[in-house]
Amino acid sequence: MQKISIRKFLLIAAAAYAYVGLAAQTYHVPANHEYQHRNLLASQTPLMEHMKLENTQKFIQDIEAREALDDNDIFSAFWDNQSVNPYGSKALIPDHKDINVSSYVAPVSSNNITSEFGYRPRFGRMHKGIDIKLNIGDSIKSAFDGVVRIARYNPGGYGYYVVVRHYNGLETVYGHLSKYLVHPGQRVKAGQLIGKGGNTGRSTGPHLHLETRYMGIAINPRAIIDFENYTTHRDVFAFDRKTCEKAVNYAPRYSKHKAKYASKSKSGKKKKATRRKARRR
Ligand SMILES: [Zn+2]
Repeated sequence: MQKISIRKFLLIAAAAYAYVGLAAQTYHVPANHEYQHRNLLASQTPLMEHMKLENTQKFIQDIEAREALDDNDIFSAFWDNQSVNPYGSKALIPDHKDINVSSYVAPVSSNNITSEFGYRPRFGRMHKGIDIKLNIGDSIKSAFDGVVRIARYNPGGYGYYVVVRHYNGLETVYGHLSKYLVHPGQRVKAGQLIGKGGNTGRSTGPHLHLETRYMGIAINPRAIIDFENYTTHRDVFAFDRKTCEKAVNYAPRYSKHKAKYASKSKSGKKKKATRRKARRR
């Protein structure tokens, strides 16, 4: 009797050991791999800050060559015609990435920004784009070359909207259109007509809701685009995962209002205080 229970105990113990061992293995291997992968990526990506101006042209050529190589990957991996962010938790998003934005074309012939990117305390959520006032029927153009990923209708949110994935890795979202003029899978050029401006979905007046995303992460469009001058601040946008939600204020006249464009702050009080200050100026 006793012998059997000892044998039973040993069997259970062995089984438990094997299970724990397996669990530990399946946990440790990918974590370690991911760590190595991240380190590798970090060491590969050059930072714009270290570049001299005369190297910029060569630098853009290198990025263009890499974009051509990445072409197949970009338009097959994490690709669907439904979700604005199809990347989910499986995507390995680098901390830094130099993105060639030199071929930018302004999507709409208006620079009247009516709502900024950032946290909206009134609604308790992020506004992941920037709103540009327009007239219904105004032309909406693709900001860069790319392939249309989504063209559909979302009555409670974006209304008629288009998402284009670009060769540079960015995605742009165009919301509240009166209609779209492209279909998923269609290749578009920078400046090509993709829809007409409107007031569909959750919208309180004709405007374009414009988002700029990298691997699903919403970037403050002001960090990339100089809306006042219908161009980009620089030819290469240095994506930084930690700061991409904030505007990078290259133009001196923005610097005073930095707080105004800052995204969600940890303390609600602090945010209110800076807003009040900004209003006083
Ligand atoms: Zn909006």
